[in-house]
Amino acid sequence: MPSIMRRIHLLSPRLANQIAAGEVVERPASVVKELLENSLDADADRLEVDVEAGGVKQIKIRDNGHGIPQDDLALSLSRHATSKISALEDLEAVGTLGFRGEALASISSVARLTLTSNVEGQESGWQVFAEGRDMETVQKPAPHPVGTTVEVRDLFFNTPARRKFLRTEKTEFSHLEEVIRRLALSRYDVGFTLRHNQRVIHQLRPAKTQAEKERRVASIFGAKFIENAVAVDVEASGLRLWGWVGLPTFSRAQADLQYFYVNGRTVKDKLVAHAVRQAYRDVLYGGRHPVFVLFLELDPAQVDVNVHPTKHEVRFRDGRMVHNFLYSTLNRVLAAVRPEDQLPPVA
Ligand code: ADP
Ligand code: MG
Repeated sequence: MPSIMRRIHLLSPRLANQIAAGEVVERPASVVKELLENSLDADADRLEVDVEAGGVKQIKIRDNGHGIPQDDLALSLSRHATSKISALEDLEAVGTLGFRGEALASISSVARLTLTSNVEGQESGWQVFAEGRDMETVQKPAPHPVGTTVEVRDLFFNTPARRKFLRTEKTEFSHLEEVIRRLALSRYDVGFTLRHNQRVIHQLRPAKTQAEKERRVASIFGAKFIENAVAVDVEASGLRLWGWVGLPTFSRAQADLQYFYVNGRTVKDKLVAHAVRQAYRDVLYGGRHPVFVLFLELDPAQVDVNVHPTKHEVRFRDGRMVHNFLYSTLNRVLAAVRPEDQLPPVA
């Protein structure tokens, strides 16, 4: 039987990007996460997010960061193009949220993305988008203050198989809101506005003082959370842990109010989870889950964030030390909450 000649060929840039998009762009929430991280990496301190139909129809993010110069606009949409690292050594101590240079290329291969940006000292703003199988970029001048606006419409319009996995508008919006919540908890210095179908959902002003931070936490989770939490701020041997831990009596049936950050990055990590669980072990009723918003700060060289693009895993250079620090700090904080202050848990 004659065998069919299978010839090797290069994938078109769009197809290569669409395949890469499979890793990072799962739903509207992932688009918002990538875009907001870019805005924060650009030192923006005002972020406005407008979404329509749970983000499937449109996501528009406007920031007041340093913007992208016109000469770099085309590159910003290409794969493996980044301004954030240039050598392998840089990965050892990444200070930015992004560094893979994949997000904009991926998103523009599976949605209609336009980016408008302006930088200090440039005559006008410029707008760019990519089109066709080779994702050639098209540019035109467009008025814009210093900063960047990214508009993403019709997510997965050209990848029906992926569009089928999107849920209802309500579900997609709740995932998206969770992304904003996580970022707003990690960056008190940044103001956030979230609108859904033109309705303001969150309006969070920058918060400096402890009281302002607690107000932000309260406006995200409700006043009950702060009323039932203890503030933590402990520093030892180059590690700092701060934030709020819920009283054992404020525990929940699900582990849904647990926020842990490592150097400002939201993290779901086995070692961290274990240390926290251990600390609560003696004070929590069986099967209940603690609530907490905690920030661990340490020398960036002590932690590897380049483990997986989305899984929020990290690798600590000295995991045992981190575990001990978390456990002993939280254990002490919780032991100080006198048992007679506590009532049995309510549903
Ligand atoms: P990465 O963030 O991994 O570098 P992206 O594809 O997300 O890759 O972005 C590519 C580049 O575009 C970034 O490195 C940055 O230089 C630029 N960029 C993207 N979004 C913004 C923004 N909102 N403000 C300023 N620059 C941006
Ligand atoms: Mg990025």
